[in-house]
Amino acid sequence: MTATTTEAVAEQFWTRCRSCSSLLYLKRLRRNLDVCPECGDHQRLAAPDRIRQLVDPGTFAALPGEVAPVDPVEFVDSVSYPQRLVAARSDTNLAEAVLCGEARIDGYPLVLAVMDFRFLGGSLGAVVGELITRAAERALDRRLPLLLVTASGGARMQEGVLSLMQMATVSQAIAALREAGLLTISLITDPTYGGVAASFATNTDVVVVESGARMGFAGPRVIHQTIRQPLPEGFQTADFLLRHGQADMVVERWSLRGRLRPLLATASAVRPAPVPEDDRGTDVDDAVSPLGPGRAVLIRDPGQLAEPDGWRAVQAARNLDRPTTLDYLATAFDSFTELHGDRLAADCPAIVAGLARLGGQPLVVVGHQKGHHTKDLLARNFGMPTPAGYRKAQRVMRLAVQLGLPIVTLIDTPGAYPGIDAEKHGQAAAIADSILAMTGLPVPIVAVVTGEGGSGGALALGVADRVLMLQNAVYSVISPEGCAAILWNDPTATPRAARALRVTAPDLLRLGVADAVVPEPPQGAQSDPATAADLLRHAVVEALTPLLRMPAETLVRQRRLRFRRFGAGNGSVPPPVDPR
Ligand SMILES: [Zn+2]
Repeated sequence: MTATTTEAVAEQFWTRCRSCSSLLYLKRLRRNLDVCPECGDHQRLAAPDRIRQLVDPGTFAALPGEVAPVDPVEFVDSVSYPQRLVAARSDTNLAEAVLCGEARIDGYPLVLAVMDFRFLGGSLGAVVGELITRAAERALDRRLPLLLVTASGGARMQEGVLSLMQMATVSQAIAALREAGLLTISLITDPTYGGVAASFATNTDVVVVESGARMGFAGPRVIHQTIRQPLPEGFQTADFLLRHGQADMVVERWSLRGRLRPLLATASAVRPAPVPEDDRGTDVDDAVSPLGPGRAVLIRDPGQLAEPDGWRAVQAARNLDRPTTLDYLATAFDSFTELHGDRLAADCPAIVAGLARLGGQPLVVVGHQKGHHTKDLLARNFGMPTPAGYRKAQRVMRLAVQLGLPIVTLIDTPGAYPGIDAEKHGQAAAIADSILAMTGLPVPIVAVVTGEGGSGGALALGVADRVLMLQNAVYSVISPEGCAAILWNDPTATPRAARALRVTAPDLLRLGVADAVVPEPPQGAQSDPATAADLLRHAVVEALTPLLRMPAETLVRQRRLRFRRFGAGNGSVPPPVDPR
């Protein structure tokens, strides 16, 4: 055997990792979903391989892929555009740079379009745009979610400005799906740049980035040539995108199916039609709730509650052992898929938001997140959100509206973050927008103050149809420390301020700001988190069940009346009482 034929035979069985240069046995690499077993590098996939990995075996049915090729500007560089197309076809065995079809993932049906970077750099031309648009139209016809798997250098220069127009063509097909209440997901794979990044890779509802993928508008070389500065480590990588609010999640290849599953499950959940107002029951017991079995736990009469001292109540509500929003999501709810990022610049760790499930009912949960120890408290900024947090909350609430899902908010914050950057990025406006948006969301909203309801930063998640408070939670216009400093000019007046502000659960019930109180275990939620979670679950079921059957316009009208009555002279606010 000559040296050349030995090499040729070796090439059939072995390859070198593009990242760590390890020599890899091809069969082993394929079994590992083309992820290097040595360094974890996610190698680029051809569209047929991607589809094979992603969808249930035997379920992919290709959409017709035959569209006559175009050469609108008769482009020629070193060779003519038609010659390039012929070469790309023979190299890839594909008609174009995208494969579209219907399939199932873990049994859930969807339409998907998968781009192939091998075909002229996955570039977006008129045929690619047409095929993806047809896939979106198929999803609209069949009322199925759409998954777009992107891998592209951008618009196809060889088709001149018509390739640029594809960004708009596909985007309006995405818009139609979103307007119709259907879920759109992009899965960004390496690399995704230019016109694809600046349209359907990022204007979907949920942006999933495959581990190791890079995405950006301008490529690193162009940026470097323009600004003539070194680019930061990890620039435009998946983790960079997550940190800067561009991605909902970064997922390793072997977890993709598992992470797409709950999104598709939510999209395919049947939404119960609202019943006419006359037929509405209000009792949790008189209907089978899609939320699962309920038990009446809510306390509406302040006389049934012990009257805690205001300052002690504040300290109890701040107890770091109390369950956090993520604790409740892991215990009181059946599942939770977290979504990240404000799609502008950042992901605020002090607010978590995503799709959850309670019984058979998918819903959206948004909440403040503190922590139990110094490390998580620092990582979560002590539960004090930045403007990015409120913008993420609004984005996920809009998704709830699009999919017709009820919203549950869990409130536990000392207040919105008072910082220089927060002010620069419009903290006041972010809170204001959140309050404004919540007054008009046409889906049921239940807010639960689980710990500290601190000021505007709390109300930004609190404009709800039903406002509940945990027994040991507090809700206040300002921290007692802040109040003591401003009105008493004396930090030792803090306990007095806490009492004067009337912040306890029975106070808030009397003031009508809370509709009901969620009981806690005798020694507080922190003493028995499992029971606390169970009580919270029943409380949410009890409060939400009657709302699920209300028409949207009734919900919004009653929510606005609820907050309208806090105006002076509207009868529900009791006269002031002397502070204890
Ligand atoms: Zn490697």
